[in-house]
Amino acid sequence: MGIFGKSEEQIQKDTIKDLRQMVAEAGMPDEVQKIASKELEMLSKIGPSIAEYTIGLTYIDYLTGLPWNKMTEDNLDLARAEKILNERHFGLQKIKERILEHLAVKVLVTTKKCRVLVVDDEKIAVRSMERILNKEGYKVVTAHSGEAAFKELEMSPFDVVLTDLKMEKIDGIDVLKKTKSKYPDTQVVMITGFASIETAVEAMRKGAFDYIQKPIKLDEVRSVVKKALDKKLITRSAKGSVLCFAGPPGTGKTSLGRAVAEALGRKFARISLGGMKDEAEIRGHRRTYAGAMPGRIIDEIRRVGSCNPVLMLDELDKIAGHDFKGDPSSSLLEVLDPEQNQNFIDHYLDAPFDLSNIVFIVTANIADNIQGPLRDRMEVIEFSGYTEDEKIRIAMDYVVSKQINAKGLSDNPPEFTQEAISKIIQEYTREAGIRNLEREVASICRKIATEFVYEKQSNRKIIVTPELVEKYLGPRKHYFEVADEKDRVGVTTGLVWTEAGGAIIFIEAARMKGSGELILTGSLGEVMRESAQAALSYIRSNAASFNISENFFEHQDIHIHVPAGAIPKDGPSAGAAIAVALISLLTSRPARRDVAVSGELTLSGRVLPVGGIKEKFLAARRAGVKTIIIPQKNKVDIEDLPRDVKDKLEVVLVSNIEEAVDRVLMEK
Ligand code: ADP
Repeated sequence: MGIFGKSEEQIQKDTIKDLRQMVAEAGMPDEVQKIASKELEMLSKIGPSIAEYTIGLTYIDYLTGLPWNKMTEDNLDLARAEKILNERHFGLQKIKERILEHLAVKVLVTTKKCRVLVVDDEKIAVRSMERILNKEGYKVVTAHSGEAAFKELEMSPFDVVLTDLKMEKIDGIDVLKKTKSKYPDTQVVMITGFASIETAVEAMRKGAFDYIQKPIKLDEVRSVVKKALDKKLITRSAKGSVLCFAGPPGTGKTSLGRAVAEALGRKFARISLGGMKDEAEIRGHRRTYAGAMPGRIIDEIRRVGSCNPVLMLDELDKIAGHDFKGDPSSSLLEVLDPEQNQNFIDHYLDAPFDLSNIVFIVTANIADNIQGPLRDRMEVIEFSGYTEDEKIRIAMDYVVSKQINAKGLSDNPPEFTQEAISKIIQEYTREAGIRNLEREVASICRKIATEFVYEKQSNRKIIVTPELVEKYLGPRKHYFEVADEKDRVGVTTGLVWTEAGGAIIFIEAARMKGSGELILTGSLGEVMRESAQAALSYIRSNAASFNISENFFEHQDIHIHVPAGAIPKDGPSAGAAIAVALISLLTSRPARRDVAVSGELTLSGRVLPVGGIKEKFLAARRAGVKTIIIPQKNKVDIEDLPRDVKDKLEVVLVSNIEEAVDRVLMEK
């Protein structure tokens, strides 16, 4: 006997009965309900002592807990959306505009007056359908024959076509074919007499959305047209609806994603793809596998309890690891494809779940690193690093008050001076975004809170000055890498573009007795090694023009090293800086540290344009660089830069390496 005097058998019966009820009420599609019922049938036959029983119960319980048809209603008020984006985020004007445009298209698509074509050779039937549909607010066009329908279809597109199946000459099937070939997204509903149901089913196989039977019932017409429209709108609004936010960490991608969800009135969920090792994390494990679990996508949907959240997939550019089990990009392609994701199958669910209502936002540090086919699906929006002025504004207006609230200091909020924030930015952080800035501000707030607790009082007014910053955060963590360094022979400053934004690197060249070998160290990538080779070859073939002896390479080895192990070093844009370092070494002319060089070098000495100009400028500013030498061809990129990114920096445009040499190298 079990608890409350019920027999085990009775308990099992009751459990199954409860689950049946839950299955019936979960709003699942018929197909899934059938799967669940079958599983329950199987469970009712086996005893609770068998392992499968519990696994089965958990499964059914999970299925019924999914928001199969629960969705939040969209709020498509653009003015409100704009207000929400602005309230949370400073600046980012272009990005906000792009997002609003994106939402605006959605609004247009969903609120546009829908056009319905009604085709029937029975005049009375046409008239009554026209009346019903007009009442629903649709724009209705009628045709009394297949030929007339063809003419209408030639003239303009429709969202839904209702057509009689049996007509003289051109029949309903022809209208269906014509519609689908011209407007694949348009939904076609067949109207049929009782006798031709088989043909109607045949029509559905050929792509009709549904069929209704004569005599026509008003409610049925109304509901089937509504459903057909929903389907059409979903496919239409979903196309190209994947936004990709690309940029360095801490530039507001995640928090803007949250704001988009709030602006739409949708739930927000986030899945980090970075470091994912197994396709099962996306798609789940089969139930036969011990400890099987659903994938993250389905799990997040269940957690937020709505089937149309804004779902952020973080770090898409980090997913293509070689050691990944299964093919992650193909399953992601399926998730993001509006044609396929209506029937997404998670291995654990083993039944299709419709993902097409989700608004996907993908993030990446560098959009170019996303695999081609995935990238093609997306509308990429670039986020870039912030200037120091922007960081100060964001800190003063957003970050400080956020941290003060978070640390319980809002009754007697400490005040941060601008100089203090500036000190934190310059001496305690080195980043494109504001993650560490936020962390340091949080740390100061925490220390103030702790002091208040020790003092058993919290009404002392604290003004955070640069001195207090030093007291709370300890000695400075960063120096101006360039301004604080001495000029040397054989060492130049280069600019690279990494996932964390721009960064400066130093290129060191040394020579020693040897047999003409080029040694490259500093964990350089393949492309960068080749740039070094090319730079050396260029100098060897043009030695005379730099006053370098022709045979300098005969009894010497040349060593090029790029310190700072943490920065991934690859790409062609260090070529020019390497060449200048070599010329400095071979002519013994010291190189100015505060002049940074970025450009790809060809064997003939031309300097080719490079990417990531804004990030490189910001990095140069952070490091204290005074002059930037970049390729002539990048002139357009510089014209696009905001004022505060380029002022205080002298920009020198060069198209040939010789033009760069005298700007970097001093006389002996
Ligand atoms: P990412 O996702 O790009 O790494 P986050 O969205 O996590 O960056 O941003 C880090 C922090 O910086 C968050 O607290 C965010 O609110 C804040 N932040 C970033 N950009 C802005 C901005 N323009 N205005 C206000 N706060 C910002």
